[in-house]
Amino acid sequence: MYTFEEEKLIQEIKEKNLKRILLQMPEGLKKEGLRIAQLIENKTSSEVILSGEPLWGACDIAILEAKSLGCDGIVIYGHAPFMNIDFPVIYLEARYEKDITSLLEESYTSLKKFKKVALATSVQHIHQIPRIKEYLENKNLEVIVPEKKGHAFYDGQVLGCEYTSFKNIKADIILIIANRFHALGVAMSVNKPVILLDPFNEEIISMEEEKNKILKQRAVAIETAREADKIGIIIGKKIGQKFGSFDTIKEKIKKLEKECVLISMSEITNDKLINLKDIGAFVELACPRIAIDAASLFDKPLLTAREFSVLCGDIAWEDLLEKGFL
Ligand code: SF4
Repeated sequence: MYTFEEEKLIQEIKEKNLKRILLQMPEGLKKEGLRIAQLIENKTSSEVILSGEPLWGACDIAILEAKSLGCDGIVIYGHAPFMNIDFPVIYLEARYEKDITSLLEESYTSLKKFKKVALATSVQHIHQIPRIKEYLENKNLEVIVPEKKGHAFYDGQVLGCEYTSFKNIKADIILIIANRFHALGVAMSVNKPVILLDPFNEEIISMEEEKNKILKQRAVAIETAREADKIGIIIGKKIGQKFGSFDTIKEKIKKLEKECVLISMSEITNDKLINLKDIGAFVELACPRIAIDAASLFDKPLLTAREFSVLCGDIAWEDLLEKGFL
């Protein structure tokens, strides 16, 4: 179902005259990595090293890994450009080809009582936006495709951690063509109903229930963290994962008369935190979705920088609800 754009890949490698490439694939596409690596080596003079590390997002470009291996370029599948990088990177988005007409028909049951629908997709489905828009307009819905802002590379693109394109959007409901991860991100960022159309799992889901469940977890995490005498700030090592200033947060923790410890980390897991026994709570400045989505995997509360703003009294919980968690 995915397109791997082999011709474009080979052409770009030749144009950039790359000698050794680090190939990064998300877990869902990694099984194709061997084939792609072989293809590159057969059709170009480049050597390929397939990265065995996880690739969670377009923020996760392994420049240090590439440089340490003597690579002069990176090929990254499944993502669009996310930030400016001073290193040769070839992005291939792995578009997903599937007819979703029957799912659209099903989603219309949830959409028809509204007038204005905002439509957005993950990068795998971005080419389908004109067709989906036309379909919904033929049903007499007004369709708004959010203009690209922030890290979004395309109009109508939904990301995992940044929703500037969706703030103040004049729609009654938001239709997301992607997966639960993206749709939950929108639901946690914008105070509007969100419907997910998931082409992979062939399901239509209202995100309200899941959002409410996560909101309760986040409220508990903030209140539990308030009790901690010592708070750790986890500074992400990944190039695109910089969500807040540790200096500022450190100052605020001190003003609360709590102790503060700075910790650097690449992958944040409970196992890595388990030995930091004295620390009662963490503020993580890496991917905010770790704190928001994966709370049940951690023994101690993990807060995002925005959630910490509630703990330290800079904003009220109600403001966070209104302005969004992401
Ligand atoms: S920071 Fe998290 S949500 Fe954002 S692109 Fe990276 S992995 Fe995805």
